[in-house]
Amino acid sequence: MLKPDCIIVGSGVIGCSTALELASAGASVSLLERGPAGQESSWAGGGILYPLLPWDYAEAVNRLVQRSIALFPAWSEDLRAASGIDPEYQRCGMLVLPPFSTARAQAWCATHATRLESAKARELVPPLSVDENALWLPDVAQTRNPRLLKALRRRLELLGVGILEHAEVTGWKDDGTRITGIETSRGDLKAGRYIVASGAWSGNLLGGLVPNLDIRPMRGQMLLFKTEPGTLRTIILQNGFYLIPRLDGHILAGSTLEDVGFDKSTTAQAKAMLHAHAMRILPLLKQAPVVRFWAGLRPGSPDNIPTIDRHPQLENLYINSGHFRYGVTMAPASAEIMASLVLGRPQAMDIAPYRWP
Ligand SMILES: Cc1cc2nc3c(=O)[nH]c(=O)nc-3n(C[C@H](O)[C@H](O)[C@H](O)COP(=O)(O)OP(=O)(O)OC[C@H]3O[C@@H](n4cnc5c(N)ncnc54)[C@H](O)[C@@H]3O)c2cc1C
Repeated sequence: MLKPDCIIVGSGVIGCSTALELASAGASVSLLERGPAGQESSWAGGGILYPLLPWDYAEAVNRLVQRSIALFPAWSEDLRAASGIDPEYQRCGMLVLPPFSTARAQAWCATHATRLESAKARELVPPLSVDENALWLPDVAQTRNPRLLKALRRRLELLGVGILEHAEVTGWKDDGTRITGIETSRGDLKAGRYIVASGAWSGNLLGGLVPNLDIRPMRGQMLLFKTEPGTLRTIILQNGFYLIPRLDGHILAGSTLEDVGFDKSTTAQAKAMLHAHAMRILPLLKQAPVVRFWAGLRPGSPDNIPTIDRHPQLENLYINSGHFRYGVTMAPASAEIMASLVLGRPQAMDIAPYRWP
C-alpha cells in the first residue's frame, strides 16, 4: 500500500508527536510552523504528566491521560536514545495539599488503580510542616518541556521529516470533498492529507471549515526560581497552584488561567501572585532568585476534551487539537490515535469522545 504524504500544521508537542508516529510508520511527513519550531504553549508548559486533580475531570480526559502515561516512559526513553537529548522524564510524585475532597480523591484512586499515600506525604518536604490531610500521588511524573521539544525535533530530522519554519498557513483550497491545497506565507503547497495541530490557533485557522469547533486561547503565566539541586524532590499542588522541581534545581511556579484572547504578555499582578503562592508553600524560596517569567496560550476546549478526528466532509483533513491544560501529558496517545486514523490501523482505545463536535 502507498503510504500517504502528510502536511502537519503546527510544531508544538502535538504536531511533533503526530509527525513522529506517522514517520515511524513509514509515512512521508512535512511539518509547517508559523514561527520558530516548538516555542508556543508546549515550550511554556510545566510538563506535569497528570491532570492536577484527576477526580475533577470527565472520564474522556482521564482515559486519554491513562493511555498516554502508560506510553510515556518508553516513548521518552526512545527519544532520548535516538536523539541524544534527555527530555528528563522522571517519576517524582505529586504532593496535594488541602483544600480538596479527600473522599473523592480516595474513591477515584481506588477505582483507577492509582496509588495514593497520606502518611508518606509528611516526610517528603523536610522544611515544610505538611498538613496531615495532604496526599501524595507517588506515580505522577514530569518532563522538561524545552528538552522534550528539542529531542522531538532532532528525532524528526533523523527520520527525514521536513520542518519548515516561518511558514504560516493562511488559507485552504477544497473541492467540497477534499482539501486540494493550502496557501502559506511561503507559497502554495499540496499533500495527500492535512493535519491541523495548531494549538490555540486551530479554530482560527480552520475558520468556516468547522463552525462548531470551540478551541480558544487560555493564557498561563509561569515563574522560574533557581535553587540548589535536590532542594525540592516532588511536585507540590495546592488550590490549582503548583511548584515543579527540575533535576538541576530550577523550580517552576505556576500558573494562571486567563481568558484574555491571543495576548501572550506577562503581567506584574500575576508575577506578584505567583511569587506570593510560592513563598507560602515553600518559604525557603525567599532566598532563591527568580530567573525567568513567561506566558503561553493553552488550546482551551470545553471540559478539556481535545478533538482528534477526520473532518466529516473533507476526507483528507484531520485535526489533533484542544488539549487545553494537558497537551504534553496527552501527546503520545493523541498521536497514536491520529496516526491510526490516517493509516487505517485499529485503535488502541475508544475514540468516540474525541470526534468532531
Ligand atoms: C503555563 C502553562 C502550563 C502548562 N502546564 C502543563 C502541564 O504541566 N502538563 C501538561 O500536560 N500540559 C500543560 N500545559 C498545556 C500544554 O502545554 C498544551 O496543552 C500543549 O502544549 C498544546 O500543544 P499544541 O502542540 O497543541 O500547541 P502549541 O504548542 O501551541 O503548538 C501549536 C503550534 O502551531 C503553530 N501555528 C499556529 N497557527 C499556525 C499557522 N496558521 N501556520 C503554521 N503554524 C501555526 C504555532 O506557532 C505553534 O507553534 C501548560 C500550558 C501552559 C501555557
